[in-house]
Amino acid sequence: MPHVPSTPLSFATRQVHAGAEPDPVTGARVTPVHLTAGFVFDDFEQARARFAGEDDGFVYTRMGNPTTAAVERRLAALEGGTDALLLGTGQAALTVALLGILGAGDHLVAAADLYEGSRGLFLENFARLGIAVDFAAGPDDWERLVRPTTRAFFAESIANPKNAVLDVPAVAAVAHRHGVPLVVDNTFATPYLLRPLEHGADVVVHSASKFLAGHGSALGGVVVTGEGFDWSGFEHLTSPVGVLGGVSWVDRYGPRRAYVEHTRGVVASRLGPAISPFNAFLVQQGLETLSLRVARQSATAELLARWLLARPEVVSVDHAALPDHPSHAVAQRLLPLGTGAVLSVTLAGGRSAAQRFVDAVELFTRMTHVGDVRSLVIHPASTTHAHRTETERLETGIWPGLLRLSIGLEESADLVADLERALAATHEPAPEETLVEVGS
Ligand SMILES: *Cc1c(COP(=O)(O)O)cnc(C)c1O
Repeated sequence: MPHVPSTPLSFATRQVHAGAEPDPVTGARVTPVHLTAGFVFDDFEQARARFAGEDDGFVYTRMGNPTTAAVERRLAALEGGTDALLLGTGQAALTVALLGILGAGDHLVAAADLYEGSRGLFLENFARLGIAVDFAAGPDDWERLVRPTTRAFFAESIANPKNAVLDVPAVAAVAHRHGVPLVVDNTFATPYLLRPLEHGADVVVHSASKFLAGHGSALGGVVVTGEGFDWSGFEHLTSPVGVLGGVSWVDRYGPRRAYVEHTRGVVASRLGPAISPFNAFLVQQGLETLSLRVARQSATAELLARWLLARPEVVSVDHAALPDHPSHAVAQRLLPLGTGAVLSVTLAGGRSAAQRFVDAVELFTRMTHVGDVRSLVIHPASTTHAHRTETERLETGIWPGLLRLSIGLEESADLVADLERALAATHEPAPEETLVEVGS
């Protein structure tokens, strides 16, 4: 079967077929796990040709591997892109994607609502490399924050933990007016719910550790690109380089493929965050059921969001399926198949209610992760966002009573029963109060 079938196939079909053929030597139907550091050269001439990039065979697993390449083809097909680069973690993917664009003296405009790891990367690591960042808190900020040195926009399609949905076409239009690409972290939406490249984004990144793998047993990350953006305004891609024998990336690969070829050949392979072919295999196993899982997890999340909102212990629920959520209208336009499986719930009883809730769950797992087949709960203010000041937390809407839930594949009635138990526990005396009573 060709990698790219002649007729466009639907998402569910692509997720089990795209990019993988039966093994030509053994007939193995499932992509084998090629655990090997390097690949044999038939002779002197083949070694020379591979290093010169004249022969596209494999050389060394840090640069490419047949198991990893099959998963990359599938991920590109699922995102509606042309190329994918599978890496060891989501953090590796977004670091590589952005360092393929930005260098010292450049400026990034990023959404204010971001995964904490991304925010830390920009504020601490990128700052030391001479890359400046500003955060856009509202739709008008993107235009306002652009400087002559701005080289990229970065945002999450559905942002953790308040579920703000990115208006991809609107932000892409501002980016393109200034000649810069929009990079979207699509971890929370997955390509099943949203394919940002089809709405004007230029580069998509994911933590494959979350929904793409789905089973919660392996880490991975991916960078996916299309051919919509013209990279000829980027000096590092238009200047002659030694590695290409004195021509530029744009000369060799054209203005639309220069970025992905440079990012794979120079950024990822030099920084070195390769994925193990075994983990690539695990990501592929997960991908084969992606649409089934995400449709069900998203539907259960919506049901639980409505159920929680009706409870007296609950002040607010953040899920874009709810009509009063600030992103509801954008979600209706961009996310017709569902608004995601992660939601936040804020308890009236504040931090002590949150503590009793977290300690009372029996089915939800206390863990920092999302997109798992199991439902998970975490209290951001005391864990993921503990190092932020109280003021910063409140500005991003992380109240002391806010909990983040990632909904898995359990039966919804069992999850409701567990939430019921946890909410009932919030009426009990706080743990400190219990201690005082025991001691008196
Ligand atoms: C988890 C996550 C990351 C980081 O991915 P890792 O695989 O843990 O490195 C980046 N962005 C988002 C939105 C995430 O949820």
